[in-house]
Amino acid sequence: MIKSIIEDAKIEKLRALINGVQRIAITCHKSPDGDALGSTVALCHVLRRLGKDAVIVTPDMAPRSLEFIPGVRDIVVYTKNELKARKALADAQLIFCLDYNSLKRVDRLAEFIEPLKVPRVLIDHHLDPDSIFDIAISHPDASSTCELVFRVFMQMGMLRYMDRMAASCLYVGLTTDTGGFAYSCDNPEFYEILASIMRRNIDRIGLYNKAMNTFSADSIRLQGFALSEKMQLFPEQGAALITLSKEELERFNYQRGDTETLVNKPLAIPEIYWSVFMREDTDRIKVSCRSQGDFSVSDICARYFNGGGHENAAGGDFYGSLDDAVAVFHQIMNDLFPSNNSQEQSKQEQE
Ligand code: 5GP
Ligand code: MN
Repeated sequence: MIKSIIEDAKIEKLRALINGVQRIAITCHKSPDGDALGSTVALCHVLRRLGKDAVIVTPDMAPRSLEFIPGVRDIVVYTKNELKARKALADAQLIFCLDYNSLKRVDRLAEFIEPLKVPRVLIDHHLDPDSIFDIAISHPDASSTCELVFRVFMQMGMLRYMDRMAASCLYVGLTTDTGGFAYSCDNPEFYEILASIMRRNIDRIGLYNKAMNTFSADSIRLQGFALSEKMQLFPEQGAALITLSKEELERFNYQRGDTETLVNKPLAIPEIYWSVFMREDTDRIKVSCRSQGDFSVSDICARYFNGGGHENAAGGDFYGSLDDAVAVFHQIMNDLFPSNNSQEQSKQEQE
């Protein structure tokens, strides 16, 4: 039995909101991932089947590796078509905010969403959501936003509109946000949801392979290089660090998405329970963290990298050089493990 975990009052309020409007905009966070894209496209598709004029507006493009998600090419992308994105938001009578907890996560879309006088509905599984939402369906224990979108469909009696296309999109988010059913999927209901999705006759293996196991040759080589040449291990602190500079990324013709699962790799080493990946971007260092057990990387990302996320998967940005970002990593280790001086250790390893 899949329990109704979303409060009835919220579901009824949402039903009334949807019934009362025609034009709906659906947004997700910048650098959208499989969960952000899967959940927005599935919701958009179902709302359209209900007769609504629904449109998805994202801050930036989906990575090429996720273009296989059906419907992704229909998305209005702010960085590609600013006017169309602004118009879609301005015309909307209701805004959905999917897979993010704060307007900080939508980059420049925030300045257009913030002043809108229409209701905002959050559906998300990140910790500590902002209090700017008229309905906040926020469940940090959920595997993914796709799971929550399924639960919204279920509790609203809308599962009959969840066809093969919507189910395929939800499957992508359930898969990618759990690392291919590796973590954040301990609730048995997760598999009941999966079963319901499978009954829509989705191409499960095809979707799984595209979502989890498809990389360009350049990307595979870049990951090999990163693991062989750039991975530093700090077993005493259970930590791993990988950095990639702009020059290194360019050497392997880096495309967005190419390093998507790299940060997880060091966690395969038994002594390592937290892993940090730093990628030099045009104007910032993008930081990604993963951990196992009760070691929270969302706290680390919030405190040191102006970010956040989940206990075991979080990210943030660092404004400065890659060297300075690495210095912050050593600072974190010294703050967390004052008795082991990681910088000394790393110097000795290099000698
Ligand atoms: P990733 O490392 O795959 O980019 O992100 C892992 C998790 O951390 C995702 O749930 C993502 O939403 C969150 N995250 C990534 N970057 C940021 C960031 O800059 N700020 C916040 N608040 N969360 C982030
Ligand atoms: Mn997610």
